Amino acid sequence: MLRSVILAASRSDKVEKFVGSAPISRDVVRRFVAGTGTADALRVTRELAEQGLAVTLDHLGEDTLTPEQAGATRDEYLTLLQALAADGLTATAEVSVKLSALGQAFDEEHAEANARAICAAAAEAGTTVTLDMEDHTTTDSTLAILDRLRKDFPGTGAVLQAYLRRTEQDCRELSGTGSRVRLCKGAYKEPEHVAYQAALDVDKSYVRCMNVLMAGQGYPMLATHDPRLVAIGEDRARWFDRGLDEFEFQMLYGIRPEEQRRLVREGYQVRVYVPYGTEWYGYLMRRLAERPANMMFFARALSSKK
Ligand SMILES: Cc1cc2nc3c(=O)[nH]c(=O)nc-3n(C[C@H](O)[C@H](O)[C@H](O)COP(=O)(O)OP(=O)(O)OC[C@H]3O[C@@H](n4cnc5c(N)ncnc54)[C@H](O)[C@@H]3O)c2cc1C
Repeated sequence: MLRSVILAASRSDKVEKFVGSAPISRDVVRRFVAGTGTADALRVTRELAEQGLAVTLDHLGEDTLTPEQAGATRDEYLTLLQALAADGLTATAEVSVKLSALGQAFDEEHAEANARAICAAAAEAGTTVTLDMEDHTTTDSTLAILDRLRKDFPGTGAVLQAYLRRTEQDCRELSGTGSRVRLCKGAYKEPEHVAYQAALDVDKSYVRCMNVLMAGQGYPMLATHDPRLVAIGEDRARWFDRGLDEFEFQMLYGIRPEEQRRLVREGYQVRVYVPYGTEWYGYLMRRLAERPANMMFFARALSSKK
């Protein structure tokens, strides 16, 4: 219930205005978002790299409605990739891209052309791109675009969401050699006919999908903060005899940072998903919806005078 309310608020202009103008918002946002500009993204990448963590950077921007907006997002990624290369950070940092921010909602070909330009710049800089997955109405389109991009840029990564009923089969299709797949639970509100609704069913699906990916020939990227699933991931790595460089864990910036460092100490590869940009509102609200305790933290911050 609370989750639905927060997800609804994530689409409300009025709530966005209120949250954006509250003086304390900046401190709360800073916990989950690197900052608004390229320099912030680079600074946080360096800080995390010093702790042995790899990074995937996401330039925040959703609901792109015009080719101009989509072009601006593409250009931001090109600038970012050049800056990462200039700073010698492409060995530890890649980028995550939302096709919706590149125009997928109004022109799939246009979005694909923008994504292709970003993949080319990433290849030039010596790094990779992962295509984020959004709501289920975009899954087929995103996987089709991924398939075409991988022909020229084989390192391009996919994201699959365990809450979707189709995902176990998608994992089978994407578990071949060289295929980079980030497995997450899924962050959108989805209808019953396409997605498991009970947390336990999502977790069981995650484990089935993880088994398929870990048994396959690709490169699994286990994106979760769930302690049980992390432990099962560690177990499956041993079971399927995967070397420490043959898969990775991924977590979001600001969430379970101690656990991120523990995994690094244990020798695992850990990549932190670092969002940055001025359009942080939708992203922040999805993170709050995931955990009521975050909402309390946020509410306290909004009502404090600090
Ligand atoms: C690297 C990465 C990339 C992602 N990319 C996508 C994507 O492309 N598409 C998509 O739909 N979703 C994406 N997600 C989000 C994902 O689908 C989940 O919504 C999110 O990760 C929460 O699920 P969980 O597996 O951590 O488990 P949960 O059951 O939600 O959480 C397990 C535990 O982790 C901790 N935790 C989880 N979330 C939070 C939080 N917000 N704040 C504080 N503690 C928390 C808590 O201790 C909680 O009990 C991504 C997640 C990660 C880590």
